[in-house]
Amino acid sequence: MSAGYPWVALPSEALEKIGSAERSNGQLLFHANEWNNMYVAQKVETSKDLWLPVTVPAEYAALRYQGGTVAGQWVRMPGSDINIQHRATIARGRGVGFGFDDFKKLVPEVRQPSGTNNGLLITHVADMPEDWIKAGATEFSAWLTTRDFVTPMPVAVEPETGLAQLDGHWPVDDMLNFKVAVVGVGSIGGVVADALARYGVGELHLIDPDRFLWHNMIRHVLGPESVGIMKVDAMKQRLNARWPDTDVHPYTYDVVNQAHLMRSLFSNVDLIVCAADGVAPRRVVSHVARRAGKPAILACVLDDGAVGEILRLQPAPRYGCLMCLRAHLAAAGGIDVEAAQELDYGTGSVHRAMTAVGPDLHFVGQLAAKAAISTLLETHLGDHTARLSGELATIGLRPTADLAAPFDLARTIDVAWHDIPRPRPTCPTCNPGT
Ligand SMILES: [Zn+2]
Repeated sequence: MSAGYPWVALPSEALEKIGSAERSNGQLLFHANEWNNMYVAQKVETSKDLWLPVTVPAEYAALRYQGGTVAGQWVRMPGSDINIQHRATIARGRGVGFGFDDFKKLVPEVRQPSGTNNGLLITHVADMPEDWIKAGATEFSAWLTTRDFVTPMPVAVEPETGLAQLDGHWPVDDMLNFKVAVVGVGSIGGVVADALARYGVGELHLIDPDRFLWHNMIRHVLGPESVGIMKVDAMKQRLNARWPDTDVHPYTYDVVNQAHLMRSLFSNVDLIVCAADGVAPRRVVSHVARRAGKPAILACVLDDGAVGEILRLQPAPRYGCLMCLRAHLAAAGGIDVEAAQELDYGTGSVHRAMTAVGPDLHFVGQLAAKAAISTLLETHLGDHTARLSGELATIGLRPTADLAAPFDLARTIDVAWHDIPRPRPTCPTCNPGT
């Protein structure tokens, strides 16, 4: 293992304790993680001889490693430019620093290590001017002190918030208002759910009747910890741990046999993504989403993983449904790829293992999530940077170039966008009551 440049980690409990201490300096104790060249704050002296422990949450397993200890200190220096000097010095390269006596003029409280000992110093400067922060100064800086020399060290500070760090760059608050249903949380749908949570969608409804088993692992975002658990429950656990701002609702419904349960569910969300394999679930989603007046994104791979497909169905008079599109393609004389697939799937209840490799399915899932988010941004927030080039994207995964349009991709990673036809006059999905 390569140890990398030494660095200091300050978990949020250490920041709070340093920031709220009554006195302006004190001692610190660090765990030294030699194999990773890392020093993690372990105890903070907040008033004379009162040491408070720093708890590191269990999920940060590497930060909880308990090796030897290194003594240090912290100094609060309001108004000081010391952390700009840290930034400027570290930029000059490894090993550049200050003679101890020169550094003591900048930070009078610094203690000189004895003999060959090392010490660590944290300088804390709150409320820095904006231009200092723009210049790269950070509220907390770390220094390695020896008897003769002081050098700046990189420091990693635990952020106060999750996705709110993206404020100003991404509509974090608007995302929290969106509700999306994901039908099928297999290899594609698992990626879709994961990505929607990472985009910051506030409410996810996951629908899948299957259990996560050993053979699913080679393609799925879930791992060995989830084997034996219902896919929707395992995804909820995964998403809750990483993205606590996203509210996840699991349902072990079968979208075909329990289509009646989909109606109320779909009418309560802003958009539906269908990543279920098999033709029948896609037809149910196409029909029920249309009747609920909600847009749907259908994602799949076709022709044994040669081609990916992202289809957006919008509940507007100028867009047909899934069956209108398939009828249109069949009338155009092309091979109906989905119908060919249906011969293998039968009613959709017989499962044939997807033949695409995991990363190809994940690629399609990421694009489907992007199309879903873009649809929400454009529809609800009027964001024109979120416009798609069409309603149907076909994606070359391992294209054989012998399929009919729109699946006639020549090269891998080619993405071709197409429009979809208007509703057929007799379509019972697009024209209820006719
Ligand atoms: Zn239709």
